[in-house]
Amino acid sequence: MGNIKERTLVLVKPDGVQRGLIGNVIQRFETKGLKVVGIKMMSLDEAVLREHYAHIADKPFFPGVSSFMRSSPVVAICLEGLDVVNAIRILCGITKAREADAGTIRGDLAMSVACNVVHASDSVENAQAEVKRFFNPDQIFDYNKSEYMNVYVEDERA
Ligand code: ADP
Repeated sequence: MGNIKERTLVLVKPDGVQRGLIGNVIQRFETKGLKVVGIKMMSLDEAVLREHYAHIADKPFFPGVSSFMRSSPVVAICLEGLDVVNAIRILCGITKAREADAGTIRGDLAMSVACNVVHASDSVENAQAEVKRFFNPDQIFDYNKSEYMNVYVEDERA
């Protein structure tokens, strides 16, 4: 069984902020049964983007991604739940939004590869680094969520 305290990092990207999709994205996570443990709006600078997108920093499209990600604030969200990294990746859909499955955030809300509404951590290891990158420890909240009684069965909550 996975860890119910697993955490992941989501960014609502500038296209999501500009298109008024912040609430739509957060609502999907809340109705799924996930716990929001941190949330804030922030502007990203080139240094943090170079670190965050190190795996694509040598791609020809990186300068465009970097300037897009600096074109308006983003909303950073830290979510907690059982196997949450994988659960959120499934909710987000594949990178190329116009081919993403219907029902996913990208499949329902976007058409582009670059403007694909959300970023989500792609592994537990990266999630830990990304949560640290975007949140100070005092911006993450450890609290009980009463609906967990109905979201998970007992052995999943253990
Ligand atoms: P994901 O966000 O699905 O994990 P990647 O980590 O591969 O995808 O890429 C990071 C981000 O870089 C993507 O979400 C997208 O915004 C942008 N990107 C990836 N590939 C391309 C591309 N071929 N052209 C333009 N932007 C891209």
